Amino acid sequence: MKLIGLLGGMSWESTIEYYRIINQEVRRRLGRQHSAKILMYSVDFEDIEQLQGSGGWDRAGQLLGSEAARLERGGADFILLCTNTMHKVAAAIEQAVHIPLLHIADATAERVKAAKIDRVGLLGTRFTMEEEFYKGRLASKHGLEVLVPNEDDRAIIDRVIYAELCQGQIREPSRRDYVRIIERLAAQGAGAVILGCTEIGLLIKPEHSRLPVFDTTQIHAEAGVALALS
Ligand code: GLU
Repeated sequence: MKLIGLLGGMSWESTIEYYRIINQEVRRRLGRQHSAKILMYSVDFEDIEQLQGSGGWDRAGQLLGSEAARLERGGADFILLCTNTMHKVAAAIEQAVHIPLLHIADATAERVKAAKIDRVGLLGTRFTMEEEFYKGRLASKHGLEVLVPNEDDRAIIDRVIYAELCQGQIREPSRRDYVRIIERLAAQGAGAVILGCTEIGLLIKPEHSRLPVFDTTQIHAEAGVALALS
């Protein structure tokens, strides 16, 4: 079994989910008392959020690159970066290490394509919903047609992520907002919705959604296990 390097803490509310899902998946696959071999570096998310807010992406890339290198020195065989948004600096992380970074958007797109869905809704932070590194990657690398909510709805989705979900707050009115926004995406022709932020699965479960749900946390964690056991 390979040693999984988790670059987490963005936020820790979702990194806990990675730890749980990875271990459950190893137990499901191997049985007995098997559990995952994991090395984790968990950042202070305040540092990251400040850099996001001030446009300090180069600095964020250096920071996460150097934490990824620590994981490599500690023996990790590959890295899962436990956030969609910070994949904006995936290239800087990849440059800082010699081990693979398993990209969350690629793992998710493979699942969507396997389900024969070609038009998807995407929920995430405004960076994820609006920028090329994620939305564009789904389209150009994987051929998916990606629908995002309108500007007002994107602001709601983004605010709930940082002000509530990353703070461990699960609120019913926010769930209703998300459900309404998913329904709009369905009306526009989306065949499924990607929960493109690692905390959204804490709020939206498959039973809340009118559309099939692709939860990036679940998919990324499972892809990590598949690689660890390959
Ligand atoms: N965990 C979130 C994501 O998957 C947002 C927090 C962050 O900005 O990293 O995008």
